[in-house]
Amino acid sequence: VRSSLRTRLSLSYMLIAMICVFLISIFANFFLERQFRSYIMKNQERKNKEIVELIKKQYTSNGLWRKEIIENIGVSSLEQGLIVKLKDSSGKVIWDAMAYNHGMCQQMMFQMSQNMYSRYPNFKGGYKEDKYSILVNLKEVGIVEIGYYGPFYFNENDLIFINTLNRILVSVGLFSLILALLTGIIMAKRLSMPISRVISTARMISRGSFEVRSFEKSDIKEINELTLTINNLAENLEKNEMLRQRLTSDVAHELRTPLTTLQGYLEAMIDGVWRLDSERLKSCHEEVIRINRLVGDLEKLSKYENQNLKLNKTNFNVSELIRGLILNFEHEYLSKRIEVTFRGEEEMITADKDKITQVLINLMSNSLKYTPEHGKVEIEVKDLKDKTQISVKDNGVGISEEDLPFIFERFYRADKSRSRITGGAGIGLAITKSIIEAHKGSIKVNSKLNEGTEFIVLISKKYL
Ligand code: ADP
Repeated sequence: VRSSLRTRLSLSYMLIAMICVFLISIFANFFLERQFRSYIMKNQERKNKEIVELIKKQYTSNGLWRKEIIENIGVSSLEQGLIVKLKDSSGKVIWDAMAYNHGMCQQMMFQMSQNMYSRYPNFKGGYKEDKYSILVNLKEVGIVEIGYYGPFYFNENDLIFINTLNRILVSVGLFSLILALLTGIIMAKRLSMPISRVISTARMISRGSFEVRSFEKSDIKEINELTLTINNLAENLEKNEMLRQRLTSDVAHELRTPLTTLQGYLEAMIDGVWRLDSERLKSCHEEVIRINRLVGDLEKLSKYENQNLKLNKTNFNVSELIRGLILNFEHEYLSKRIEVTFRGEEEMITADKDKITQVLINLMSNSLKYTPEHGKVEIEVKDLKDKTQISVKDNGVGISEEDLPFIFERFYRADKSRSRITGGAGIGLAITKSIIEAHKGSIKVNSKLNEGTEFIVLISKKYL
């Protein structure tokens, strides 16, 4: 059965309170009553001895008993429920409560047994008699017999005490039950209210309102973490949604230009405005190539711009890698008469070799694209203790100050008309940045229009 946090908590609190109260009452009743009983029994013994002591004082030096005083003692004892009998050493009865007032003694004993029985139906009590001999100068001069209701007896006051005790226990029990219930409800409220609010925020997010945030402040650690996680989730969803929308519109925009051109060419040829010759077909072919390249770039983008880009790390020599790439580009550099130089020690780094290769290809092909004939490209690798710095510097067209902050964004091209001829879609640097960031490295650019551009990549040698 699924119950709410509130019911669950309140019930558990109540159950604990009930168990505690139950245990406490059992222990209290058991131990307190036992203690109280032994106290009553000791008290009885003490009273008996007091009476014996009082009677002993009534024995005169000439071997006689002061009968009137003994009678007073006997009567006052009787009023306390004690039946006193005094015999002298020869066994002769000096004073006997039974003889003095038999009816009252009987009545009293009956009353006592009734009282005890009404409260403890299983109580095995009855008339008991204790004997005490009175010694004077080590000689027994008399025997006192004290009869009482035993083994113990609770008088009115004792019963009131016991009842009060029980009543206190019951009240404490009821009080703690109510307290437990209230605490349970309050605790549950403090727990479930913020959770419910976070849930309703999460529900709104799941319905597509990615901009809502939970502002739940709680002193409970888990709830704070929940709020934080939900907010992070919403933020990521919001960002992804934005990226998705932007990507779609960017792609549509990028595709439109070559498609419109192609459509225009084809329509002109169909309508006979243009003659169908190989020159015109070549123009169409170029547009198709452009579209194809864009699609290829998009493929790369989806591969590398994935947030959870998986890195396949190995330890390799970047300098060696760069030298190899320069050889691959040799033909293109030569055909533009661009001079390429490489400087640097052998540098080992731990990174994803394929992806770092992609980074280097992007930077090198940019330097090739944006440097006019007879230019210079310098590639350098530097050892910065725990980092490796790779720089690609050219003396090409450069990037204007206004464009510089945006060149790493997707589909951003500094000079639209120029780039259309060179063919880039503005995706290369976006991919480059994603790869470097996945490696927890950084990329920087220094550039001046008409002077040249330098890209500087910093990457940790030991990838953490
Ligand atoms: P593209 O495919 O257009 O080259 P990139 O993302 O690689 O896309 O580069 C974005 C823009 O940054 C380019 O269009 C270009 O204007 C500018 N850029 C990149 N590298 C250089 C460079 N070495 N020199 C001058 N401009 C550059």
